[in-house]
Amino acid sequence: RIFMGPEESMQIQSNLGSDIAMAFDECVENPATYEYAKASCERTLRWLARCKAEHDRLNALPDTVNPRQMLFGINQGATFPELRIWHMKETAKIDCEGYAIGGLAVGEPTQVMYDIIDAVEPYMPAEKPRYLMGVGTPSNIIEGVARGVDFFDCVMPSRNGRHGKLFTWEGTVNILNEKYATDPRPISESCGCPACRRFSRAYIRHLFKADEVLALRLAVLHNLYFYNELAARIRRALDEGTFADFRARYSGNLEKRA
Ligand SMILES: [Zn+2]
Repeated sequence: RIFMGPEESMQIQSNLGSDIAMAFDECVENPATYEYAKASCERTLRWLARCKAEHDRLNALPDTVNPRQMLFGINQGATFPELRIWHMKETAKIDCEGYAIGGLAVGEPTQVMYDIIDAVEPYMPAEKPRYLMGVGTPSNIIEGVARGVDFFDCVMPSRNGRHGKLFTWEGTVNILNEKYATDPRPISESCGCPACRRFSRAYIRHLFKADEVLALRLAVLHNLYFYNELAARIRRALDEGTFADFRARYSGNLEKRA
């Protein structure tokens, strides 16, 4: 057993020297009662003040690994919009380099997650990055961007890849399906990743069936390539003012079967 509080969390992250340190927060179980979620938000707020003080102290030390490490505060409040908003307002009073929305994508319906982002976003400082933690599918990312989110992180491309679920611009592919057993085409004709440039669906499926670890590597490689391309295309669409068209074309379709 170890004890970890706000100070210990900041010390560990400072020693890691990451670009961004995340505040020490409580991510409550879903569903949570209002009373528990409120007490938890107050605790997370008290912890953020302690994180900020310790983070400032650590960044100022002469031998700190990364003296320019940033601290991001995290919004909580379960699925209660008014609690989320109150917590975001209070969190924004503590000067962080960015702010995250945590405690979503923990089993609540997707529309509830979108509604919470819509509720909280107006209270997130506009000039600082916004990070939606632990999200999500390609559609979730497009919908998050549409609601003003800048950052995401998720196990989805790697975990799904390890289970043979592959993302493509034509929709999802379950490479374990029998119909791919002799399919000579790449995972996606429109993908430039090393797995698609060199290997067929049939071969990658065979590797999965043979429990060959190369299957997982190729599948994850492809999915990470897809997510990188997704982010690049979202940025380009935003720059070119065509994001609404991009969203309409892809948000619903990327999660359908190819
Ligand atoms: Zn590929």
